[in-house]
Amino acid sequence: MTMNRRDFVKTTGAVAAVSAFGFPHIARAQGKKVVIVGGGTGGATAAKYIKMADDSIDVTIVEPNKEYYTCYMSNEVLSGARKLESIRHGYDGLKAMGINVVFEKATAIDPEKKVVKTESGQELAFDRAVVAPGVSMLYDKIEGYSKEAAEKMPHAWKAGEQTKILRSQLEAMDDGGVVVIAAPPNPFRCPPGPYERASQIAMYLKEAKPKSKVLILDSKQKFSKQGLFTQGWERLYGFGTEDSLIEWQPGPDAAVVAVDPSTMTVTTSFGDEVKGAVVNVIPPQAAGQIALDAGLADDSGWCPVDKKTFESTLHKGIHVIGDACIATAMPKSGYSANSQGKVAAAAVVALLNDKEPGIPAYVNTCYSIIGKDYGISVAAVYRLSEDGSTIAGVEGAGGLTPSDAPDFALKREVQYAYSWYNNIVSDIFS
Ligand SMILES: Cc1cc2nc3c(=O)[nH]c(=O)nc-3n(C[C@H](O)[C@H](O)[C@H](O)COP(=O)(O)OP(=O)(O)OC[C@H]3O[C@@H](n4cnc5c(N)ncnc54)[C@H](O)[C@@H]3O)c2cc1C
Repeated sequence: MTMNRRDFVKTTGAVAAVSAFGFPHIARAQGKKVVIVGGGTGGATAAKYIKMADDSIDVTIVEPNKEYYTCYMSNEVLSGARKLESIRHGYDGLKAMGINVVFEKATAIDPEKKVVKTESGQELAFDRAVVAPGVSMLYDKIEGYSKEAAEKMPHAWKAGEQTKILRSQLEAMDDGGVVVIAAPPNPFRCPPGPYERASQIAMYLKEAKPKSKVLILDSKQKFSKQGLFTQGWERLYGFGTEDSLIEWQPGPDAAVVAVDPSTMTVTTSFGDEVKGAVVNVIPPQAAGQIALDAGLADDSGWCPVDKKTFESTLHKGIHVIGDACIATAMPKSGYSANSQGKVAAAAVVALLNDKEPGIPAYVNTCYSIIGKDYGISVAAVYRLSEDGSTIAGVEGAGGLTPSDAPDFALKREVQYAYSWYNNIVSDIFS
């Protein structure tokens, strides 16, 4: 029997999950407490899988928002292909499993006393903590940009209110306007995200405002799945021609270094001033603020971890997962955060039961929807290196959509993307 790329990823994903949870319901770390900071993709996954593996562990999520909006599929909200409500998820499913959810912001993590403090002054003691706060926006790396400026020049890099603002600006703009996207330097949340966003906005403009265009001003000289993106843009949006709906200018010259929300202009490092009808500034990023405040990050602004358990190498007893951690070859994606959540959960349960954590496998797939019936993807399986120092891609496992993929295969990628979405949110929240 031959196995295609997708079957292989499915199978290895299952193997990883089984090997991580080869001890369901027999482990008993009675009365042990785990506090999870951040109930997003990584944190909610870890909470659920800890509880599933050992329901005697007291699991508490600390999360300020009663509803979580996935960033994945939020670009479709910008094009009007889906409603914001369709990417909103609540915590009832996790609560029904016996997980406590404290709807508050964590304000401090004390690694010595093993306590998480919340905004209202609660002190939550833990035996082990999992920290998954996502990313913080480094507003001050772009002159003139700030949280306030983001009300006018939204980043929409955390889904919800910011997505809503950007969508209404796109709807309100006149035909003939330029939509500027300032793409950030590496590393950042979702490497293909800005380019999927450009595609989705172009799809909307093509139908609703065909005299307009998207201009990507990039800090980088190349980007994720570039060949497949530009091929799709050529086919759908006239990329490379005078009338292209998408223009991409590479870094370092095109990097946006300053913005002025009062005139809706941005300045590039080359000194060009560009005015946009809509300006989407995606700033440089670092680990979520609480991870920085807790001393979990190194000079890079990201959190170093033991690659086998995701335990911080700076503070024992605290595991950092998702976008905030340094996971070598794994990109900062929702699927990576979900995979890391399971690996960390298995490690936490093992350690609380005085057992040696198993050797994990990890997986990531990332779909990008470039236009109607036009999807592309990248998939990878990862293993811990022999010496445990890195997470490395398994050669021959995974890969990219072939550049000669026929139309039916590109259309099928879109259906796979929707199916992936339904599966992952169900895996995390229900
Ligand atoms: C436009 C866009 C498209 C994307 N598309 C894809 C895709 O197609 N596929 C994919 O796999 N990934 C995609 N991603 C990436 C994905 O969304 C992130 O990688 C993923 O959400 C990371 O998970 P996380 O748990 O680290 O962070 P998050 O999911 O952001 O969760 C962090 C949580 O921590 C909470 N928090 C923060 N600070 C505190 C605090 N002090 N106290 C308590 N809680 C706190 C936040 O409220 C949040 O709920 C996309 C991202 C963007 C922006």
